[in-house]
Amino acid sequence: MVIEYSGNVIRSVLTDKREKYYDGKGMGCYMFRIDDYEVVDATVHGNAARFINHSCEPNCYSRVITVDSQKHIVIFASRRIYCGEELTYDYKFPIEDASNKLPCNCSAKKCRKFLN
Ligand SMILES: [Zn+2]
Repeated sequence: MVIEYSGNVIRSVLTDKREKYYDGKGMGCYMFRIDDYEVVDATVHGNAARFINHSCEPNCYSRVITVDSQKHIVIFASRRIYCGEELTYDYKFPIEDASNKLPCNCSAKKCRKFLN
């Protein structure tokens, strides 16, 4: 285990409203989808995990674990990580059509060129 992606667990339907609010305040928005119904909003109550970047060839992976009936997102190492190496995981964004593609800049040899 490397770190928990901590924040407030919010209902999926609130994400658009919060994103607009954060945009209006000029704040970066950090959210991690747990499933179809819940999202962890790390924008205000998050920790350093929210700054971990995506990679198509990551050294970590995320898992949703349940502790005392509460869901948590935890980042685990998928191999030995060396001192000074950047932590990354695959964001696994759902595939979108060409007009909504987000380019990937992870620079991995097997980069998929898009995050979604
Ligand atoms: Zn990539």
